[in-house]
Order: sequence, then C-alpha cells, then structure tokens
Amino acid sequence: MNTLILVNRHHAYPANAPQDLVPVHPDSPDILMEREAAQALARLMEQIDDWRHIVPVSGWRSFEEQQMIYLDSLRDNGREFTQQYVALPGHSEHQTGLAIDLGLRQPDIDFIRPNFPYEGICQEFRKLAPAYGFIQRYPAGKETVTGIAHEPWHFRYVGRPHGERITERGLTLEEYLS
Ligand SMILES: [Zn+2]
Repeated sequence: MNTLILVNRHHAYPANAPQDLVPVHPDSPDILMEREAAQALARLMEQIDDWRHIVPVSGWRSFEEQQMIYLDSLRDNGREFTQQYVALPGHSEHQTGLAIDLGLRQPDIDFIRPNFPYEGICQEFRKLAPAYGFIQRYPAGKETVTGIAHEPWHFRYVGRPHGERITERGLTLEEYLS
C-alpha cells in the first residue's frame, strides 16, 4: 500500500488497486479503512477518549458509492456546493481507504460537512494526528492547490514520518509530493 498516493481532480484512483479494508471500530462495522490506517486511527483514538465524543462519519467509499453521493448532492445542494465539497467519482480520496471524515458526537450529524471544530476534543485530535500519520487534508487557504474547499473534518493517513513533516511545514499533500 502506498500511503502517499495522490488522488485529486487531476489524479484518479486506479480502479483495480488491491485493498485490505477493515472497520475503524466495532460499533461502526460499515466504516472501513485500509488496515494500517485503521490501526493507526485506533491507537490515536485510544489516546484521545476512546470514541466517546468523536464519531467516524465516512471512511472508504467505492466508486459507485462516491457516484451516488455526488449525484445526490448535485440534486439536493446544487452544482456550486457539490463541486466545492464532493469529489468527482473516481477522484475521491475516500476511495483509497486512507481518508476518514470525523464528527463531534451530537444528535444530527451532517454527512457531507460534519461538525469538527478547532477547539476542545476535536482540536486535541488535530494536534495529535500528525504523530500517528494523519494530516488535515484540505486546509483553509489551500483551496486552489487541493481543488477542495476547507474541510475541518477530513483527515488523510499518510503514515510516519510524513504526517509530521507535512504538518510542520504547513504543506498540502500536493505540495509535499512536488
Ligand atoms: Zn472526506
């Protein structure tokens, strides 16, 4: 598994890439990640609060699932919103199994834009994440580089030591790889 694989509007995820997907938590059997990423996330969450205040919202997606999300969002939210927040089918990082959307545990969780504020337990997660190989993939101010709007809830597993290097230098994955 290449933890530095780049998937964005210019780079599609190869349809036949082998995957080894496992649930991120027994309570969420449908939310999957690549085994190494899921294990790193489990260790990180153990360190935080054992999933008491944070929930996994969306992990691995198949091409078909991404297509459904994209079309549903086009219908419900319109083109401008969808192009900002939902990657084209074939171009979603979620298809790699290395991306996870997280939300603060609350009664209503927005599937496309979960609440993951820059304070409290969520910020604690954000601070620890790089040491476990995770980066915040779509930061504010980098929209033209990533092609995706600022997404406080979307984290990408890149492994160590890349998580720390990318975060310390304030880079996106695109910039780190070029
Ligand atoms: Zn996401």
